[in-house]
Amino acid sequence: MLNRINIMNVPIDVVTMDEAVSKLMSFLKTEQCHAVFTPNPEIIMEAQDNKELMKALNNASLVVPDGIGVVLASRILKGPSLPERVAGYDLVQNLFKSAAKTDYTFYFLGGEVGIADKAAKKMEEKYKGLKIVGRQHGYFKDEKEIIKKIQAVKPDVLLVGLGAPKQEILIDKYKDILPAKLCIGVGGSFDVMAGKVKRAPVIFQKLALEWFYRLISQPTRIKRMIRLPIFLWNILRISVNNKKK
Ligand code: UDP
Repeated sequence: MLNRINIMNVPIDVVTMDEAVSKLMSFLKTEQCHAVFTPNPEIIMEAQDNKELMKALNNASLVVPDGIGVVLASRILKGPSLPERVAGYDLVQNLFKSAAKTDYTFYFLGGEVGIADKAAKKMEEKYKGLKIVGRQHGYFKDEKEIIKKIQAVKPDVLLVGLGAPKQEILIDKYKDILPAKLCIGVGGSFDVMAGKVKRAPVIFQKLALEWFYRLISQPTRIKRMIRLPIFLWNILRISVNNKKK
């Protein structure tokens, strides 16, 4: 059993990046489909008002913190704290590295027209032996048709990059009828893999300022990011209330 903490009713697994990758590889050896999500403070805040998103997060097999704000929250609250940030993009890159040595197959779902194709081509070049058996853009009308396409090629891993909360809700809704052993919500990762969006320079990542880089490079995110201080404010309130108990 994994050690789980609870941040505003969202479960988060206390794992390092290496432990998370091992966990993903072990899920691939099982028969059922495991959902994996990587919430940041924005997603945790959204789950407070969105029941379907909250349910999806609570039904997942592995939930890791894609945001320094979530790690910080675990340190402010009582109980075990999260050892490090496990960014979804890095988690998937590490999974590619391990899976490239095996026969496990991947399906890329999400992004604008052409992005999943470009991302798949680049990842196959980067990780020799990686097997991507399907690609589909994320602006489709009939969700059931897409599920049929995925069922037809039977991938072991389905990566869903539709942004939150769409990707979490879709995975939770269909995971029992999908042939994949692993379904991961990957947000805008295909854009980064395809080279459309640049990841923050390493210095920003090391200083835990990736969120700030994303804000200055994509200023339209300000509306979403306004949730970060509200999140931290809530965490401080919960911590003060816990101390009073
Ligand atoms: N997207 C999609 N279909 C939709 C809405 C969004 O495929 O109906 C894709 C969009 O093209 C982008 C990703 O979902 O690649 C969301 O990226 P964002 O940076 O918002 O996600 P984050 O990493 O912040 O969760």
